[in-house]
Amino acid sequence: MNPLRALIAKGRRRSLRVYYDEAFRLPISGAEAGPHAMETRRADDAVHYLLRAHALAHRQVINPEPVSYSDLARVHTLEYLDSLLEPATLANVFAVDPSDIYVDEVLRTLRLGVGGTVEAARYAVHKGRVAINAFGGFHHAAPSRGAGFCALNDVAVAVAVLRADGFRGRIGVLDFDFHPPDGTAECLGRDPSVWLGSVSGADWGALPGVDETLLGEGTGDAEYLEAVEKLLGRMPPLEFAFVLAGADVLTGDRLGQFRLSLPGVRARDLLVSRKLGLLPQVWLPAGGYSSHAWKVLAGVGLTLAFDTDAPIPSDYDPLVSRMTGISRTLTSSSLGSEPFLSEADVADALGLPRHGPPKLLDFYTAEGLEYGLERYRLLPMLRRLGFRNVRVVIDRVAPLDRARVMGTDALTGLEWPLIELEVERRRLGSGTFLFVNWLSLRNPRAHFSNLRPQLPGQEVPGLGLAREMTQILTLMAKRLMLEGVAFRPSWFHMAWAARHDARFVDPQRQGRFEALVRDVSKVSLLEATRAIAAGHVALNGQPYAWEPDEMVRWRDEDDIPDDAAQIAAAREHSHFTLT
Ligand SMILES: [Zn+2]
Repeated sequence: MNPLRALIAKGRRRSLRVYYDEAFRLPISGAEAGPHAMETRRADDAVHYLLRAHALAHRQVINPEPVSYSDLARVHTLEYLDSLLEPATLANVFAVDPSDIYVDEVLRTLRLGVGGTVEAARYAVHKGRVAINAFGGFHHAAPSRGAGFCALNDVAVAVAVLRADGFRGRIGVLDFDFHPPDGTAECLGRDPSVWLGSVSGADWGALPGVDETLLGEGTGDAEYLEAVEKLLGRMPPLEFAFVLAGADVLTGDRLGQFRLSLPGVRARDLLVSRKLGLLPQVWLPAGGYSSHAWKVLAGVGLTLAFDTDAPIPSDYDPLVSRMTGISRTLTSSSLGSEPFLSEADVADALGLPRHGPPKLLDFYTAEGLEYGLERYRLLPMLRRLGFRNVRVVIDRVAPLDRARVMGTDALTGLEWPLIELEVERRRLGSGTFLFVNWLSLRNPRAHFSNLRPQLPGQEVPGLGLAREMTQILTLMAKRLMLEGVAFRPSWFHMAWAARHDARFVDPQRQGRFEALVRDVSKVSLLEATRAIAAGHVALNGQPYAWEPDEMVRWRDEDDIPDDAAQIAAAREHSHFTLT
């Protein structure tokens, strides 16, 4: 039995509430693109894992109300709150182009996040309990400005609300994000009833009112944990605490420069949790810009519920798990297929023209696809990106079936295709695959900019939903009992994005591709794909043109051909140079 299951079986569970909403995911299509990429699925991933691992029961997950403007005004100036209605203000905070901000929905996410911290704090203080808010810790936001992905200071707003409720006890804010709590210091640094403690790795100058420990770049687990322990030793007696369990201290983070391991960060959170003991407390995720950031938040849940640093399985993919779980609840009849012989089969057998609604791959009706995409939360996200009347249209572009998701821009009233998919069943080698001839995810509201550079072949920026769409195609192949998904990457960056779970069918071609990935790794993906598209690459000294051959993602690993030696030989014989 794994250590977590053993703890759950023993029933040693501390009561814990987790404040969470599906709308915690920021509706910004370019949030994960460009140099300041964020991890927008962190709350979804962590809460899903905790529920699936039975570390958390559904009744412990609470949907917060959005914070009121009158509560925000306890901390933020009216002039600043007013400016948040301009897309440029939020675009600046989230380092995206203003065209990527649909103000109503982005503000809804932010107000839900602050509302979560406020409700969690009230619950913890008034009931003497422990809570997590899965989207909070916006410590760079000051009364009259936002910065660094922080528009509203949730901790300062929650402190003001607790004081208005009549709570007079001393409050601690323990900030373990990689970056210093400059906004929180500006909001609360002069309040003698609040103690601010921080261990950070970036020198932003003196922060008045903060007990700050500054560590150097490259700090490892031992030195970091020692600094945390010393800070906890200096902490005065408290009656309530916020803990910002920042995940941007993890090694490999895009914006943090420590070299902490995941077990090191989990040890930090166990240390802090044990020190705080039964004190009413609220934990917040704060920053985290690596693909492992969700594990820190999920780990906080395990630590608070079971007083453990039991590991999270390293191969667990919350997105795959979440979507596979949804797929199991979708019946084939809800997606459009009829059991046994379909009407189309009968018509074909009798040589009669087909009638009835057109179907994708003789299986999915437009109605059924719409239902499925709603359940997979793609259509709700398209609405949150600012599209109305979102609907699915199915037709044929012979010999392929085509499905399009259409949507009307809420601001201009123009209807656009947002998702276009052209597919067929195709035989490749020994198996039949779901062949994707064309897939495009388009956000016609968003513009390219330095923050979101145009890739070869892109007409408009994407929707930020490529990972979900990839998983949906894999699940479609499974439902249709096909061997996997096949496609022809028209550009290097498409093959690059698929390289971990797909490969070229031809081992020679796969070897050349691996050599290309190896040889262009010194430049950015953007530079590489642009150079390859422009023909500025040579293979063994000869001009090289990108080869859009078939790539395959097999459903069953046993079906992957055993041709590693051929791949390696082709890889070793191929040497690419940028010209
Ligand atoms: Zn940070």
